[in-house]
Amino acid sequence: MKILMNTKLIDRGQAKVDIEDRGYQFGDGVYEVIRVYEGEIFTMDEHLQRLERSAGEIKISLPYSLTELKDRIRELVSVNQVWDGGIYMQVTRGVSPRNHLFPGSDIPAQLVAYPIPSKRPEELQKTGVEVITAEDMRWKRCDIKSLNLLWNVMAKQEAADAGKFETIFVRDGIVTEGSSTNFYAVKDGTVYTHPSNHFILNGITRLKILEACRNAGVNTVEREIQASELDQYEEAFISSTTIEVMPIVKIDGKSYSKGKPGPVTLSIQKAFRDLLPDRKKD
Ligand code: PLP
Repeated sequence: MKILMNTKLIDRGQAKVDIEDRGYQFGDGVYEVIRVYEGEIFTMDEHLQRLERSAGEIKISLPYSLTELKDRIRELVSVNQVWDGGIYMQVTRGVSPRNHLFPGSDIPAQLVAYPIPSKRPEELQKTGVEVITAEDMRWKRCDIKSLNLLWNVMAKQEAADAGKFETIFVRDGIVTEGSSTNFYAVKDGTVYTHPSNHFILNGITRLKILEACRNAGVNTVEREIQASELDQYEEAFISSTTIEVMPIVKIDGKSYSKGKPGPVTLSIQKAFRDLLPDRKKD
């Protein structure tokens, strides 16, 4: 496998991370996961724009222009013959003697991108998943796709240890999002999801789902969902680049839409797939 390390495509085995890379020592960096469907890079512009925004919010300058970056990512996909998979990429503040203070502007950011396996979780998309809730203990800049994922990692593990798929965060009584997903609840045919502010990552899949809903004539409302009112909703689902639209059938043991993916969720799942550059949609 070839990986992109700054300007060069090199063999996976030759890639080395310096012990003083700030991503390694401080989690001082940002990342993206992009999906490739049938060799086509899905929503690359949106992901790269979000990467640039995330980096800018923590005062990291990307080492390439977005145009250059796009060309290099295309090259990476082509050299590795990625057909149905993903690309992970991250940018850190660079390598410099350990110090909380930013290094000088002469220290370049370090970029790495490489293919990762990613397959549509088709069975789970049909059956739906169970989730649990937990307090959202993350910092209040969840809009930045930062390498600091400690609470997300803890929460995902808690779900797995309980035999569940995902943990949904609740901050001050409000449902925000999942540990690596956005959250939606459905009532009377309307889809509700948290507004895109600093309490959630504005998922690229979320944006596409809102678009898919508009195309399918499904009403959407971006507003806070009270955790105490969750049981008043008929359906729920989560989304991300890797899981697309994933129905939720139980939250903390309580069933939604009789323990099966709900009809509105399934129609959105289909409408989302219709946006994909995927010739085998069903
Ligand atoms: N929210 C969080 C916390 C995430 O980590 C992710 C993806 O990793 C998402 C939402 C979904 O984002 P996207 O649809 O861009 O993959």
